Amino acid sequence: MMSCMAHNKRSKAAEAGQLCRTVQTHQMVKGHRLQEEKHETADMENERTPLVTTIRVERTDPRYRSFPHSTFRRFCTIALCCILILAIIGFAIPYAVLQPHRRHHHGHSHGQIDGLHASGWPQSEGLAFDDLKEILLSTPDEEQARTWSQYYTSGPHLAGKNLSQALWTRDVWQAAGVKSDIVAYDVYINYPAGHRLALLQKKKDGHKIKFECSLEEDVIDDDPTTSLQTRIPTFHGYSASGNVTASYVYVNFGTYQDYEDLRARNISLEGKIALAKYGRNFRGLKVKRAQELGMVGVVMYSDPQEDGEMTELNGYKPYPEGPARNPSAVQRGSTQFLSMLPGDPTTPGYPSKPGVPRTDGNLSLPCIPSLPISYRDALPLLKALNGHGPKADSFNKYWQGGGLSHKGIDYNIGPTPSDLVLNLVNEQDYEITPLWNVIGIINGTIADEVIVLGNHRDAWIAGGAGDPNSGSAALNEVIRSFGVALSRGWKPLRTIVFASWDGEEYGLVGSTEWVEEYVPWLSASTIAYLNVDVGARGSHFQAAASPLLNDLIYNVTSLVPSPNTTVPGQTVYDTWFSKDIRTMGSGSDFTAFQDFAGIASLDIGFGAGPKDAVYHYHSNYDSFRWMDTQGDKTWEYHTTITKIWALLAAKLSEMPVLPVSAETYAKGLEKYIKSVKVGASQSSVTDDFSFVALEKAANNLTSHAADFDVYTKSLTAELGEGVPWWKFWQKLKLWYAVRKANMKYKLLERQFLYADGLDGRDWFKHVVFAPGRWTGYAGATFPGLVEGFEDNDLKKVKKWEGIVLKCLENATKLLSN
Ligand SMILES: [Zn+2]
Repeated sequence: MMSCMAHNKRSKAAEAGQLCRTVQTHQMVKGHRLQEEKHETADMENERTPLVTTIRVERTDPRYRSFPHSTFRRFCTIALCCILILAIIGFAIPYAVLQPHRRHHHGHSHGQIDGLHASGWPQSEGLAFDDLKEILLSTPDEEQARTWSQYYTSGPHLAGKNLSQALWTRDVWQAAGVKSDIVAYDVYINYPAGHRLALLQKKKDGHKIKFECSLEEDVIDDDPTTSLQTRIPTFHGYSASGNVTASYVYVNFGTYQDYEDLRARNISLEGKIALAKYGRNFRGLKVKRAQELGMVGVVMYSDPQEDGEMTELNGYKPYPEGPARNPSAVQRGSTQFLSMLPGDPTTPGYPSKPGVPRTDGNLSLPCIPSLPISYRDALPLLKALNGHGPKADSFNKYWQGGGLSHKGIDYNIGPTPSDLVLNLVNEQDYEITPLWNVIGIINGTIADEVIVLGNHRDAWIAGGAGDPNSGSAALNEVIRSFGVALSRGWKPLRTIVFASWDGEEYGLVGSTEWVEEYVPWLSASTIAYLNVDVGARGSHFQAAASPLLNDLIYNVTSLVPSPNTTVPGQTVYDTWFSKDIRTMGSGSDFTAFQDFAGIASLDIGFGAGPKDAVYHYHSNYDSFRWMDTQGDKTWEYHTTITKIWALLAAKLSEMPVLPVSAETYAKGLEKYIKSVKVGASQSSVTDDFSFVALEKAANNLTSHAADFDVYTKSLTAELGEGVPWWKFWQKLKLWYAVRKANMKYKLLERQFLYADGLDGRDWFKHVVFAPGRWTGYAGATFPGLVEGFEDNDLKKVKKWEGIVLKCLENATKLLSN
């Protein structure tokens, strides 16, 4: 992609150079003539005097003899020429964009953009918007999506070990007519070398093994992914190597508060191993807090408590016979400290190009070992805790509800007596290795307005039918659909970029390094980033977004038929249960776009509802067979997410006035300030702080944003009415007004970046959106303020009040004139 951009730049520069050279030549010719004239008058006769001399004859025509206004006339001629040139530049170029539809293939025409007559801005060369929409809704095909999924899930594709898939993806996109290339980075990454977890009874003459964890997922006969010779061991990405033997403590979910609760009850943690349940916060942060408290290792397991109704206890059979969790399922995953720094841990804020200087990575890498296990392996460890220390149900509500009570587990905290210990061995090979993003581009007419769509390709397991390859199959179908439009002569108004990221699972590595490399260009040009990670693993539509894009999500989901209708004709919007759009946290590839570059982003997919089969996240059972028999049997959720994704891109690319809402954005900020206020009531400094200035500034932004949206609607209406060609001046004015308005929408999100970043994690530049310090996935809004209150630090609160006020003011200014 960058090669064609560079090419564009080059050719423009070349044109400019040519222009300069032409001007120079003119001046040189003029200079030469002057010199000649001088020679004629000043030189005396010599041996080089020509034999035939030109004798200058004065004009005698009275009309020319004494023309007093010759200077004035020359001035007029030059002025007229200049006006003509300016008119050509100012009118003809915009006209090239404004020109009427050229329908190469269609007799019939709609000339409408969603009911809007758009003769004033028929941008989609070759296709009307309705024709494009029709292609995007009718091209995605269930059988084809199934085929893409089958390819991606047929073998392991860990980060940095999937070059053949990268090349294959590039070729698929090229075949669809989308210019594509591989963009590689050299990243610091680990691969599993060995592991062991055993419960030991200390005896006088050494240790007796009480239980040896299998650390393996069961092979299932009719699920070929589970028996591959090359299947990937259970391990944690970016985990520390180590061999520790110690007694252990049940730490619930290992959230910050869970550890605090244990300290409040004087449970000894130092020198112990933590046994934690998966869920509630990002796994790396379970390790981070354990490490800070002097613990020496962490073991994590998946408790059926997190599986809702679909449990064996409720009578459901486990996979493959039924929808419940297979007891041997293990959740792999990264233990990077995601809320501190995503991407390559050794190149914070800059791309991991070959040979770049590297840090030690300690800001985001754990130093104590950890292992993931199944609940079947966890049972003997939990059982060994019975009778030791207080019971979890004597703690607060967050400690209730363990899902293995029926298996004889009392959920005692421990610690285990000093003669009952765990031996935890984790061996990881760390290396610097290339990984490969695939980047495709469809160049639009307007070069500096860009939409980026992305999904990651790497997975923890050979399968990954849900995460991420339901998204990868959808992305290929999006590209195939746009390819059909291209083959019918379509050229988008704005540029569309597609990305198949590598290394997401380890810590959003491929996308982060790419954004870090291209941030100047992305910042100048990008309107929005549209992410799909898990495209389909159930029937419940889910979305997270910058509020700038909320209205667009509601609009587009109401155009796409739902695969799950009780009444014929229902759309995804109709069957979308909560209609709730979450705030942007982290945990997928939108993070660098939203939190580092200030680009409005969204993340969508179909997740599991209460009646859907348990999704075996990061386990061998997230396989093609599971998807084909339980996750998305008809593959309709794959094609539905494809349609939503493609239409989001098409609307952002084709609507003359960007289909975003500044007012919804500002109202979102008002809501977030309210929630900061609610949270602040717990803080000891809350009485010393007034929210009035923040509320006033946000309110002021909302009213300016509302006015701005009304104004841009009027521009859309004006475009809809159409301007006759002979009123070219008015047309030109309208074109510039639309360009300016879109520029403001584009830069609105950028106003909320703070160059120095958040306290203690300065890679995060957005003052509104960041992952919570201790949640990782879930978004913390206005993190600077929130953390100031959490830390009871009034100085910090005041600092962030000043920063946020400045951002609100800048945003208001941007939308004002
Ligand atoms: Zn994923």
